[in-house]
Amino acid sequence: MNKKTVRGFSLNGSERFHPGEPEAVLRNTSVVEMEMGELKEGEILAETLYTAVCGSDVSATLGKPNFDWIERPKIIGHECSARVLELGPGNHGSLKVGDLFNPVAQLGCRKEDCAACRSGKWNLCPDKIILGYHGNGAFGQRMILESDRVVPFTEGLTPEFGAIVEPLSVVVNALYSKCNIKPGMDVLVTGCGIMGLMAAELAAASGARVVITGIEQDRNVRLKAAADRGITTVVVSEQKPLTALLHEGIRDQQGMLFGSKGKVDLLIECSGIPQVLAEAMLAVKPEHDVCLIATYPGKVELDATHVTRQSLNIKGVMGSHKEHFMIAQKLLVQGIFPASHYINLYDFEHINEAFADSIQAKTTKAVVKMN
Ligand SMILES: [Zn+2]
Ligand SMILES: [Zn+2]
Repeated sequence: MNKKTVRGFSLNGSERFHPGEPEAVLRNTSVVEMEMGELKEGEILAETLYTAVCGSDVSATLGKPNFDWIERPKIIGHECSARVLELGPGNHGSLKVGDLFNPVAQLGCRKEDCAACRSGKWNLCPDKIILGYHGNGAFGQRMILESDRVVPFTEGLTPEFGAIVEPLSVVVNALYSKCNIKPGMDVLVTGCGIMGLMAAELAAASGARVVITGIEQDRNVRLKAAADRGITTVVVSEQKPLTALLHEGIRDQQGMLFGSKGKVDLLIECSGIPQVLAEAMLAVKPEHDVCLIATYPGKVELDATHVTRQSLNIKGVMGSHKEHFMIAQKLLVQGIFPASHYINLYDFEHINEAFADSIQAKTTKAVVKMN
């Protein structure tokens, strides 16, 4: 099996495309044959099992300027499940050939004088390296990885579901480490990409009542997936902006009014659209949290005085670390996040389709079977 030709999906160009041109994925990327180098001290060779297409991967293939920093060509991909094929020289602890695992996406510098790394928060290390952006990643059929970044599977986790541990771990960080989520809250999630859908599910599982927003193109797939799970959905547009909808009164699936006087207990912003954040923030109750999971294409114009006067807490969430991965694995095994409801599988031969469907929001989460 090690002798077979190893292929990978490579990001080559940075030509700018509009999401209305899904064929763009073919112009900035290609499937290439990969050479796997020798294993160095502390490294392992892994077989990539399933890799999920992330919104960041999609943005990079569309040539969005916030991803210009990625060196090209690069085998992208950072959300995956994998199996240990070979241990390189050095000590790998209890890790053995055949073990299933997730690599953490963000590997810290692990230096003594790095405060973030000392506390295990590699996601906050100023010198962190990100899988698939700084080195070749999980859209390669094989990966060479530092064994430090391995999080072994918890019992019962399947490789298919394991592919989405990384994005779920970020939402775990957002909801349980950063935001003060409590049962009975009214939670507004803006944006219905997979992060929004995961945030909506975990908030609902925590006993909150959730409204998730999307745009017209999300109606039939992404918002429908949420609605099928009992989550209230709304379509926002220029004619019907969110504040107007909240002011009119959004009703949940039981017909009850959501929020109180158009105000909610928690905002989780996953759209990455500056105006959505600026507007949705106005709907948060005084002294409550605005949680930012998304990144933005440029500076965001906010009513800062409103933040002061309402004593709002704006909280950013950068990635996740090992502890969040372990929690996310358990949530998947226990069905707290119902992965099968949201995953669409593609063979490696159809990787371009997986990207094109993600670009056009035809799937809630595209996961590629890598071998
Ligand atoms: Zn991702
Ligand atoms: Zn560090």
